[in-house]
Amino acid sequence: MSSVSEGTILDVRAIRRDFPILTRQVHGHPLVYLDNAATTQKPQAVIDAELGFYREICSNVHRGVHELSGRATEAFETARGRVRRFLGAADDHEIIFVRGVTEGVNLVAQSWGRANVGPGDEILITAMEHHSNIVPWQMLCQDKGATLKVAPINDAGEVIPEAYAALLGPKTRLVAMVHQSNSLGTVNPVRKMIEMAHVAGALTLVDGAQAVAHRNVDVRDLATDFYVMSGHKVYGPTGIGVLYGRAELLEAMPPWQGGGDMILSVTFERSTYNQVPFKFEAGTPNVAGAIGLGAAIAYLDQVGLELAGAHEAGLLSYATEVLTAIPDLRIIGTAREKASVISFVVDDIHPHDIGTILDGEGIALRTGHHCTQPVMDRFGVAATVRASFAMYNTREEVDALAVGLGKVIEVLG
Ligand SMILES: *Cc1c(COP(=O)(O)O)cnc(C)c1O
Repeated sequence: MSSVSEGTILDVRAIRRDFPILTRQVHGHPLVYLDNAATTQKPQAVIDAELGFYREICSNVHRGVHELSGRATEAFETARGRVRRFLGAADDHEIIFVRGVTEGVNLVAQSWGRANVGPGDEILITAMEHHSNIVPWQMLCQDKGATLKVAPINDAGEVIPEAYAALLGPKTRLVAMVHQSNSLGTVNPVRKMIEMAHVAGALTLVDGAQAVAHRNVDVRDLATDFYVMSGHKVYGPTGIGVLYGRAELLEAMPPWQGGGDMILSVTFERSTYNQVPFKFEAGTPNVAGAIGLGAAIAYLDQVGLELAGAHEAGLLSYATEVLTAIPDLRIIGTAREKASVISFVVDDIHPHDIGTILDGEGIALRTGHHCTQPVMDRFGVAATVRASFAMYNTREEVDALAVGLGKVIEVLG
């Protein structure tokens, strides 16, 4: 790894050299990658780790007595330990490998939810949740005769504290909340929200898909019951993610998928289940992905998330300043606590057209509802254009975005 950050300023040029894709051209222009909230690019260390698994130690985990299986198992479990430290969890057994946030939420809704939620119970979410933190709860509520409640947000895109407090009650079984919104950038005061949920007697699940890439997260400091993250949004591989759950909860929860590795013994009459985390990891896991995620976390540790977050905060305020100066451009999501995402619309120009024209300039942005249709409804728009930043982005790239937008408005405005 070539990037070494010293002092208080991120060495962005060194960081960029660690990400091979950033040197490529798109439509004859240098790639300006501003779609990091959808997925981040991968440093060479992560690519090497995945490749290294397949070239050197490819084998199934937890089963074989042979050398390669032992090495693969060790690498897989080392990655689990890295994730445990990354999230500040107490024990490796509290870290369950899943495909990503989507699967993590579904696991909790299906396993914990089916065992603990009944008719008349309530699940509380916020109005800024990603579809993956809405639909699994909807499905559970429909099955169980429970009710899904939604804490509203204000015009800035912040949860309204009084409304949130009023929705918490003795029927609330669980509160599911996003740590950092992918479409608005809002950073929720999750520590406080968790505390309030616990006072009401509810459990909590935090969707950390965005947050973990931009700030240090400590699940014990937050005191959350569940926390979910996806590897691919923290510079790791796709198809791997993590569910953190408090040990007592996980131990009491029934398995949600049956198969190999999650059992201790099987007869046709009955099976006995393995201990956590294996009880929840049926079948062959994404071994290479987990090892790649471990490498991504090691990379982040080396760079320093605090430095990266500070750099991204600088980019966000610069981009906000630059975009605000563009006439007819409206920023959607102006929370006081906000990070790394800037969503906007331009009068009379369809977001899709903006995205397509900017793609021609090599600028990768996301346009659409960002899997948060209720947020679009709340702000009375069908879609937004979203620029989202990672540690390798630069002010020059923000300038390129502004120049590109100027061209779009000239042509279509
Ligand atoms: C990306 C994202 C998800 C879904 O993550 P997957 O990796 O697709 O499962 C959920 N919530 C937020 C806030 C996201 O940004």
